[in-house]
Amino acid sequence: MVVEQGGATGTVAWEEIGECRRCGRSLSDKESRRRGLGPVCATKAVADLASVSNGKDVLDVPWEAATGDVVCWRSEHDPYEIHVNVPMLDSAWKNSSFEFGYGGTGPAAFALNILMWYGVSKRDALANGRVHDFKFRYVATLPREGGVIPGAAIRAWIAEHIVRPGTGAAPAPVQERLA
Ligand SMILES: [Zn+2]
Repeated sequence: MVVEQGGATGTVAWEEIGECRRCGRSLSDKESRRRGLGPVCATKAVADLASVSNGKDVLDVPWEAATGDVVCWRSEHDPYEIHVNVPMLDSAWKNSSFEFGYGGTGPAAFALNILMWYGVSKRDALANGRVHDFKFRYVATLPREGGVIPGAAIRAWIAEHIVRPGTGAAPAPVQERLA
């Protein structure tokens, strides 16, 4: 499967994630739980990344579970060819492919999917303009050629900004839930 080459699996340590990170359904299959994506959603997560909007994003940057760093870089030959280590869990953001280095729709799509990859629900990510806050802070500020958003910064941002209604408590970021 194509997804095996990308950031959605391999060294990803999502073993204890019992729900699909794309559709929320509970997962029973061991491999699906390791990946954090059901088989259908894993395929869709890669296909969407390559087909929405300009259709040139590639999920081929290794994911390092130890750091949780989000890594992206731009092809020297094609400025629309972006390589990432986060799959497309939701393509509903105006059907936009991932972008970075400015504050537009593509960066918002990237920001939304980073947060969702970290276990934040789409609803929580979109509420109160949070996804834009995250975008302007960490995605828009990346160099045009690409860079790294440290996992520690992402975890800290989520802990500070995402509060579950009714509980008043910030959920533990995925990496810490797995620890
Ligand atoms: Zn799914």
